[in-house]
Amino acid sequence: MYVVCKDHVELAIDMFVDEFEDAPDIVDLKETEFSDWDPPVKCSQCEEAAVFLVV
Ligand SMILES: [Zn+2]
Repeated sequence: MYVVCKDHVELAIDMFVDEFEDAPDIVDLKETEFSDWDPPVKCSQCEEAAVFLVV
């Protein structure tokens, strides 16, 4: 699972496919509420705000 900004979505998809050999789901963090989990505020690849969850 990767939490990334909009610039790193493609990178995260590539990493996901490499690791799991399957296509990920892309979740927009702004449109999703998590009842028992607070997603990271920052992208895992840079200092930008996290926008997407690649799972
Ligand atoms: Zn980023």
